[in-house]
Amino acid sequence: MEPPPDQRSFIWIIDNADKIVHVNDNWLAFARENRAPQLMASLVLDQPIWRFIQGKETSYLYQQIFSRVRAGVSPVKFPFRCDSPDCRRFMEMELALLPGDAIQFTAHMLREEWRDPVDLLDASRDRSGEFLKICSWCKKIIIPGRSWGEIEAAIAALDLFGHHSMPQMTHTICDSCRGALSLELSEESGEKPNFD
Ligand SMILES: [Zn+2]
Repeated sequence: MEPPPDQRSFIWIIDNADKIVHVNDNWLAFARENRAPQLMASLVLDQPIWRFIQGKETSYLYQQIFSRVRAGVSPVKFPFRCDSPDCRRFMEMELALLPGDAIQFTAHMLREEWRDPVDLLDASRDRSGEFLKICSWCKKIIIPGRSWGEIEAAIAALDLFGHHSMPQMTHTICDSCRGALSLELSEESGEKPNFD
């Protein structure tokens, strides 16, 4: 029997200037469990959320999503992945408008798949000067000359086992997530997002 998924809700709130003004205890516990000392309350509160969102395209999409929520399209819900080296975490995020144009983010676990640890995702590993593109939304990696694939497929294709230093990750959005999000954004706003 698979253990039941994590039942906790991870909540954070940004104010009308996109500053993080609240994180709940579950959120802090989750950061601790993932050995993310940079996500301690004292280092996160009062900071712009943009400091914690990596990649130009991902930031652009979050800007679109925030303006939709603030325009009254709320709640907005989407699936995302928040993988650790030894677990594929399928999560869902919901954004809801609060008074004063604040936005509440609520994330929870849909499903967890345990796997052999993937060094590529281990933040403590040395990094080489090479870059690999990772999708911020589904955590797939682009395999040069091929297509977007799960991280294990990328590791096999790129022969990353046995390398002492891992390539750096650069965050972007893959074709299918781009398609899904564009469709949702354009359907509700009547505009086509432009990623160029
Ligand atoms: Zn993706």
